[in-house]
Amino acid sequence: MYRGVLDMAEDRVFLLSCAIQDYAWGKLGSSSEVAQLWANGDPKRQIEPTKPYAELWMGTHPKGDAVILHRGVAHKTLGQWIAAHPDCLGTKVREAFNNQLPFLFKVLSVRLALSIQAHPDKALAKKLHAQFPQHYPDDNHKPEMAIALTPFRGLCGFRPISEIVAFLRDVPEFRALIGQDAAEQLEASAADLSKDVEALKRCFTCMMQRSKEEYAEQLKLLVQRVTQQVQSGSDVSSCIGDLLLTLNSQFPGDIGCFAIYFLNVVTLQPGEAMYLGANEPHAYLEGDCVECMACSDNTVRAGLTPKFIDVDTLCDMLTYISAPAANKLFTPTPFSGDPHALLYNPPVPDFTVIKIEVPSSVSQYHVQALDSASILLVVRGQASGQGSYENLNLCSGSVLFISANESLTLNVDPSHSLLLFRACCLL
Ligand code: ZN
Repeated sequence: MYRGVLDMAEDRVFLLSCAIQDYAWGKLGSSSEVAQLWANGDPKRQIEPTKPYAELWMGTHPKGDAVILHRGVAHKTLGQWIAAHPDCLGTKVREAFNNQLPFLFKVLSVRLALSIQAHPDKALAKKLHAQFPQHYPDDNHKPEMAIALTPFRGLCGFRPISEIVAFLRDVPEFRALIGQDAAEQLEASAADLSKDVEALKRCFTCMMQRSKEEYAEQLKLLVQRVTQQVQSGSDVSSCIGDLLLTLNSQFPGDIGCFAIYFLNVVTLQPGEAMYLGANEPHAYLEGDCVECMACSDNTVRAGLTPKFIDVDTLCDMLTYISAPAANKLFTPTPFSGDPHALLYNPPVPDFTVIKIEVPSSVSQYHVQALDSASILLVVRGQASGQGSYENLNLCSGSVLFISANESLTLNVDPSHSLLLFRACCLL
């Protein structure tokens, strides 16, 4: 029997049909994890082989509000439903976040580098949105957590000063861009750590504020030199030559190619994570990940992008904290006695991600009730469960909304292990 829209109002656990974003940097066709999940979740969807599938958005952001599927039929959007049933968020979340779902959950498939960027804190987001609403579409902060699905590479946070100083020595084109004064100031600060923030800010700003002619010329010289070294079989690791040539092939002549000498290159293995707090510079380079963030679309960019760039704001807002790449890995913790779950809980209240891996030897898995609405993504495996009104058959690509205080028992298909990610807000 078909249940109408009115009955649906009582449903508290249901499947979502989620939006994709086809940004040019996305992986193409079925090489994209985003495309695979999106198409697996609905047999009517066909992957186009030459189209970039960059992001899958699971949430209520107006640029990609999920649509509720009820018995396979599309109904309202998740945002509309939550507005009508805010109790589904859980009491604390409702109060803390003004009846809104506080997070946006995503999958990303990165083929080309994303822009060098940082996200403002709440105070700066308010100011930027008021001044330039066309570039900063909302007034919220945007802390982000990325958890790798495949080996995932990104730039994240400033390198230790000693590493940047080594590049100033080994890469004369980089030194020329920074300028002799600023370079010497940073070299001196390596011995006096109280001065390193100021010296680092000066170096980074000097480089970013160079004219297009100046940095394009230095980049051309560097690329020529590294290309010759590669052709003659020399080791180019002292200038990260391979990555430099890759970025220059993706964004020829872009100032962002030099950012590799300031920022840590971090490679995550599946399950490893990095957390990007406010004002921390970063750029994703390649791979697939699950990402969760505060519900916002505010990004300040400065290179490796055809989009609007705002060098002055970026240079001014950054934290300029230097740390080794290993410090950038975010370590998950066990989750309330569940041997299959790991908690990625960042130092902001807006979101938490739980990774759940159930081996095929376990026949049933109990998805715990939380005092928060949550969104559950099936990455791998198959399971069935009983929703409030309908049987739920879950496979790779299924996305489930679970209202606060609802639990769910999944019968796991014994031929596959199950990999799930669940975004929620644990206050
Ligand atoms: Zn970002």
